[in-house]
Parts: sequence; C-alpha cells; structure tokens
Amino acid sequence: GSVIGILGGGQLGRMLSVAASRLGYRCHIFEPGAQPPAGHVAEQVTTASYDDHAALRAFADAVDVITYEFENIPTAALDLLETLKPIRPGRAALAASQDRLTEKTFLQELGLQTAPFADVSDAASLDAAIAAIGAPAILKTRTLGYDGKGQARLKTADDAAEALASMAGAPAILEGFVDFSHEVSVIAARGLTGEVVCYDPGENVHRDGILHTTTVPARLSGSQRMDAALLAGKILTSLDYVGVMGVELFVTPGGLIVNEIAPRVHNSGHWTQAGCAVDQFEQHIRAVVGLPLGDGQRHADVEMLNLIGDDVADLNTQMRATRTQVHLYGKAEAKPGRKMGHVNRVLG
Ligand code: ATP
Ligand code: MG
Ligand code: MG
Repeated sequence: GSVIGILGGGQLGRMLSVAASRLGYRCHIFEPGAQPPAGHVAEQVTTASYDDHAALRAFADAVDVITYEFENIPTAALDLLETLKPIRPGRAALAASQDRLTEKTFLQELGLQTAPFADVSDAASLDAAIAAIGAPAILKTRTLGYDGKGQARLKTADDAAEALASMAGAPAILEGFVDFSHEVSVIAARGLTGEVVCYDPGENVHRDGILHTTTVPARLSGSQRMDAALLAGKILTSLDYVGVMGVELFVTPGGLIVNEIAPRVHNSGHWTQAGCAVDQFEQHIRAVVGLPLGDGQRHADVEMLNLIGDDVADLNTQMRATRTQVHLYGKAEAKPGRKMGHVNRVLG
C-alpha cells in the first residue's frame, strides 16, 4: 500500500509523516482537533470526532494501513476501523497500555518486575491497598494520564483521603513508591515478520512531570543494557507487536522495573534522529508497511532537550550551536507545559 493512515495529528504524527514522506509514502491524518501539527506535513487531514463513524469509514477507505500516535483511541472507533484496514500495532498492544491496571498485570504475568500495585475504586479499597503496599505510594488514574497528570503522591496513610478526592471518582491504581537511582527507557521495534531491533537505552530526566532531557548512553552496566533489550523483546513478541514501542524503566539495585509501556513512537526516542541512521519514526513506518527494519545502532552520544512553552521564545543559541538539530512542531501558541519542539545535541 502507499497511503498510511495515522490516528492523531500531534508532533509524533507530524514526525511520522515526515519519515513516511522520505520513503515515498503519503499520510492521511485523522484528528478531532483543529490545525494539528501534522496537518502541515501530511497530504490529507480528516478533522472529525472519533464518534463520527461515517468519517472513520471514509478515512479507512482512503488508506492502506492504519497506525496511531497515541494510545487512548476510543474502543468503538477501533472496533469499526479494524474491520476495514489493518491496525498496526494491533489491539493487544492498546489493551495492554490503555489501562494501568491491565498494563501492570500483563507485565507481571510476563515475569517482569513492576512496582507493587492494587486496584482502587473507593476509600475502603484504598485503605486495603495501603495496608498491602505501604507508604510512600502513588495513586494514579487507571486511564488517560500523561505527563504526570492524574497522579497523587501519598507520603503516609494520612494523605489517603486527599489523594482519593483528587481522582474525582475515576478508577485508580495505587503503586508502591519505587526507590530508583535513575530512569531509563528503551525504544524497540518489531517488524511484520517478527524481527526485533532495539535502540540503546536513554536516560530520562523529568521536570514538573514532563520529560526534560534524554541522554544516551544511559548509566547502565552491560548486563542491565542486555536486560533492557531482552525484556523489550519479550513484551513486543508476546503482543505480536508491529511498530515502535517505548518502554519506561526504573533502575534499582534489584534490577530493572517496568514503569509503563507506550505502543507508539516515544518522546524519549527523539534522540535517534541525531544518533542513528534510521530514527524511531522511520523505523515505525518501515514496520507498519512491512519493510525490513533499519539498523538500530547508535553512532553518537546525544542529549535530547524538550522545548516546553516559552523555551521556544529565543532559540538563537541553539540555532548557532555546533552538532545541534532544532526541531519545531509548528504549534501556534506556546502555552505553559506544551511541547513546542526539541533539540538534539551530539555530545563530545
Ligand atoms: P508519561 O508522560 O511518561 O506518559 P505518565 O503521566 O504516564 O507519564 P508515569 O510515567 O507513570 O506517568 O509517572 C511519571 C513519573 O512519576 C515517572 O517518570 C517517575 O518519575 C514517577 N513515578 C511514577 N510511578 C512511580 C513509582 N511507582 N515509584 C516512583 N516514582 C514513580
Ligand atoms: Mg504514560
Ligand atoms: Mg511515563
């Protein structure tokens, strides 16, 4: 096929469209919001709600394969789309990542380490969860959380009532607080014929709940690096996954603990644009159209810096810096907390 349908028109959809275009494919974006960043790049954009099944049907008819840049696609829309065109990555990956309770259960059943967790729906189940897990702990909404939104930290059991109130009735999960030394993520890809390629893990630093920098190489031993690749391969293979996935990990003396998985290209994989011959966006496009995967080898040390809100007001320093790429997403308004672009700096 030659037209790739992408659900979601944010910066990830935009960079996927750029990569697809470079390989001679055309992209068609489906996005409810007006003026999506990907709309500047993709050949076609459908602006419609996920409830508009006629629009979804027309979109599916116009494309050869469907992929996505975010995991919270409504189930009814997926039910319809999957009868019309292949969706890659498939439903199993979305089921495993849309709900933190399902996600952690899936990871544990695979034999991977997660934070201790328990389902929370009311004050009684929260008390039981605290009794089982202890404090400190983090209460998170099961669905729709990102950039640290929908989370409340409990220093002690006394914080329970306030934390529960902040969930506003949404189903939640309590997680034991993991005492990690640092956070890393591994970006991995699996092709249509089952081959797996992993990028070198990156080390992630967050600021105000939002990814601030990713640096490669991460501080990891050779065996930790191997563990990261093996566990990513296990996750992808068990889901019969096709495409790129981001796997967030906590590094602890007891080994790597999986925090969450994202069934898509990932902000912590943007460094691959400057560090690898085939970046995560091209890799994802290759996977979903059934091309051979590219080489995941890293040829440089890189630091990726996110440009959030007003960080884009003055970029002269970055623009003049050597061995530095500036990526801007074409968003009109630089609101606080909004991801406006990123900078990849080759180190050394
Ligand atoms: P993202 O924007 O990466 O999707 P998110 O909103 O889905 O983020 P998480 O990644 O689950 O949220 O949590 C955000 C951050 O909070 C983590 O990167 C980590 O720093 C911290 N955190 C989350 N869960 C735990 C935990 N169980 N123990 C310790 N720290 C945690
Ligand atoms: Mg998340
Ligand atoms: Mg996260």
